[in-house]
Amino acid sequence: MNMELSRRSFLKTSGAGIAGTSLGAFGFGEAEAAVASFIKPFHLANTTEARNTCTYCSVACGIIIYSKGDLRKGEKADIVHIEGDADHPTNRGTLCPKGAALRDIVKSETRLTQPMLRKAGSDTFEPVSWDAALDKIARMMKDDRDANFVATNKDGVTVNRWLTTGFLAASATTNETAFATYKVVRSTGILAFDNQARV
Ligand code: SF4
Repeated sequence: MNMELSRRSFLKTSGAGIAGTSLGAFGFGEAEAAVASFIKPFHLANTTEARNTCTYCSVACGIIIYSKGDLRKGEKADIVHIEGDADHPTNRGTLCPKGAALRDIVKSETRLTQPMLRKAGSDTFEPVSWDAALDKIARMMKDDRDANFVATNKDGVTVNRWLTTGFLAASATTNETAFATYKVVRSTGILAFDNQARV
């Protein structure tokens, strides 16, 4: 059974909720916490959990994303709740106010969900496919590296530097992924490279 029971509606209809909020008004905060902990399992019933990393800053707090809707059954998946990951060594389940509002960034109407390209001479961005975007990036990187790669310095010492392109990598990666990314990027000669949560 897929239960839809918000905290507010539960408190409106439940005698336990009325008792809990009344006690809370008199300063019995623990009673409200007990009611909330009772309600939470219903709120998250039949959801799918996915671990991820907060994208807002370099602290990189661990989060759990709860979604409803089974894609295998043709349903549309939708994120219904995000909270701190109690098992994550960085934040132990806590989130700052920005992290606590993470669901808003997912639901935001202005959130960028596809690559955008502003063609030379144009003043507007237009959506392009991921294949087109990656082909464009690869072409531009190759051309720029061919034109600006520095094999040796003025003393003839081999340096193999490519200083005219920088690289930003993803946040929610493991140490192993970050290590592999570092090796690939550095092998091109790029020095301006950043791989951590805030990007
Ligand atoms: S929850 Fe706050 S402190 Fe943690 S990564 Fe997000 S923005 Fe940074």
